[in-house]
Amino acid sequence: MDLKIIDLTDTHARFVVSGIRPDMANALRRTLMTDVPKMAIETVEFHLGPIRDEDGKECESVSPLFDEIIAHRLGLVPIPTDPDLYVFKDKCTCNGEGCPNCTIMYSLNKKGPAEVYSGDLEPLGGKELRVKDELVPIVKLGPKQALLIYASAELGTAKRHAKWQVTSGAGYRYYPTVTIDTTKCDACGECVKECPRDVLASKDGKMVVSNLEDCILCSACRRVCPKDAITTSGDSSKFVFEFETDGSLTARDTLRKALEILEKRFDDFREEVGQLIEG
Ligand SMILES: [Zn+2]
Repeated sequence: MDLKIIDLTDTHARFVVSGIRPDMANALRRTLMTDVPKMAIETVEFHLGPIRDEDGKECESVSPLFDEIIAHRLGLVPIPTDPDLYVFKDKCTCNGEGCPNCTIMYSLNKKGPAEVYSGDLEPLGGKELRVKDELVPIVKLGPKQALLIYASAELGTAKRHAKWQVTSGAGYRYYPTVTIDTTKCDACGECVKECPRDVLASKDGKMVVSNLEDCILCSACRRVCPKDAITTSGDSSKFVFEFETDGSLTARDTLRKALEILEKRFDDFREEVGQLIEG
């Protein structure tokens, strides 16, 4: 197996994996989607009753939305996750009571009239625990309305709830092959006009493939060619992968973690089969 990165930013990855079968490519896609763990807010405590501000002004702890909706919205806020630091709460040495190895605590204290954003979540800990995207709208408070909330985030995977899904748009396609038969091609340029991804270009009076990795194998070039000079096909041992993350983990950490999980799973499977054969 060989992996070549085409594009890698904090929240987006595009890479080519070669020397694998379609079932292995699909295993990597599914692992990226559902098995990479991240932190998300799971428990939210709402203060009930009046809330006084510094000037002694009294607000009521209510908002235009039900508490359940606010808790749900907070659950979807991307929480920064160190993939090598946190452990699942039920497997932590604190026996699920909550400690810095398995839980991040946040407080939110806002009085209306105001708009509440994800950036109003204050971590009880270092600044590195501040949420990644500070402009996720939570609720708009009216006059004399207020929110005082304590929320705790814990590790989970998307198998339990979509709020623990790190990646979005995770997918792959066969690596494209586009060949132009120069004996038939008369460089009419129809294929260049038709291609939606600008894969083909005209160079020195000839048609050339200039941008192969952007090809989505739609075969529009092949259909439009009046001389039948173009053939397109997909390589079933080479795949172009692409995914985005919600910012809780970097794209590099997400891919590394997914590959580690897959490797461990295959190792465990190999061991169990080995024991069956021996037994
Ligand atoms: Zn713990």
